[in-house]
Amino acid sequence: MKKIFYGIILLVASFILLPVFPTLPDSPPDSVIRVLILDDKDEVSITLKGRYRIYSLSPERIFLEGSYLNTNVTAGSEGIGVGNREIKASGIKIYMTQDSNIYVDGKRFRGNIDIIRKENKKLMVINYIALEDYLYGVLYHEVSHRWPIEVLKAQAIAARTFALYQARQNKMQLYDLRSDIYSQVYGGKAGEKWSTTKAVDATRGKVLIYKGDIFPSYYHATCAGLTEDASNLWNTDMLPLKGVPCDFCKGSPHYRWTREIPIKLLESKLKDKGYKVGDIISVNILSKNISGRVDKLEIKDVTGVSVILTGKDFRQIIGPNDARSTKFDVSIKRDNLVLNGLGWGHGVGMCQWGAYGMARQKKKCEEILKYYYPGAEISTIDKLKQ
Ligand SMILES: [Zn+2]
Repeated sequence: MKKIFYGIILLVASFILLPVFPTLPDSPPDSVIRVLILDDKDEVSITLKGRYRIYSLSPERIFLEGSYLNTNVTAGSEGIGVGNREIKASGIKIYMTQDSNIYVDGKRFRGNIDIIRKENKKLMVINYIALEDYLYGVLYHEVSHRWPIEVLKAQAIAARTFALYQARQNKMQLYDLRSDIYSQVYGGKAGEKWSTTKAVDATRGKVLIYKGDIFPSYYHATCAGLTEDASNLWNTDMLPLKGVPCDFCKGSPHYRWTREIPIKLLESKLKDKGYKVGDIISVNILSKNISGRVDKLEIKDVTGVSVILTGKDFRQIIGPNDARSTKFDVSIKRDNLVLNGLGWGHGVGMCQWGAYGMARQKKKCEEILKYYYPGAEISTIDKLKQ
């Protein structure tokens, strides 16, 4: 009898003490998104503080578990190396219990991590994270945490909608979003602040919809007068992304900008992209669109060869941090190309500094979103059609 009693106690205790590992389905539900945080790496350092379990991927089995690990993961000749062990697998999946911490190359993340060995024998790291947790990390990088709460809430709803839209678009891919400027900037757990976290919580589950469903709710830093029609840049033609006048971003530090770029640098950048131009003698804007952004420009070289580029392609070639927008005038001064520009970003959707200006004029989150995305409504994720 005593034995049975102790047996039951032991059984109950082991259930209480067993760490709970969240399990994630192969195809993540709407509430989980996959963010590419590192790519094409030979080696990745991981530090796991707290209960962890590492599975090998294809074949899937438990490979390692414990309560602390500090090691390097490498792409081996035939598999993947964890510390000085190599396993024949296409990657590893690291699960952590709720209160544990995971660091990848020194940066702290929420959720779980996959490290995949690609065909080119380089590593790709994907963070599986709950959508709301992801937003905590994204918001701090997108707007100042010192801004009024109404603009932070508007940003949280726009970012949630955009992330969800990307996740739907990329369901068949290995990941939904990248953690750089090509999608949304995601700073992991280190990028969270009290006020931005509050804005995410205050708008939990809220998204923008148009005609009953979510849409790519783009946003950018500063439009400088008029937001851009998305159809000028991408294959997206809808009322909420058609562009609106914006007087609210006049106080933006990004309203005006000037850049001088050595002509020789432009020549080499064009050559890198496969354009056959020699010594450039002129750069002329051929047309601008209704929002004042460059539609087409022509670059001529000394032999008479000319290249016609869209404003969007020209900005990509120069680099989006140097050519901060496509709203610019251009001239040549000695050996330099001089760009005098307005605004920062592609100009589509919500103007963040404009939204800040509206919040300073006591406008509410809903008013800000309805202004920048005309025709859109605010709904919640659970009401969306799948
Ligand atoms: Zn603006």
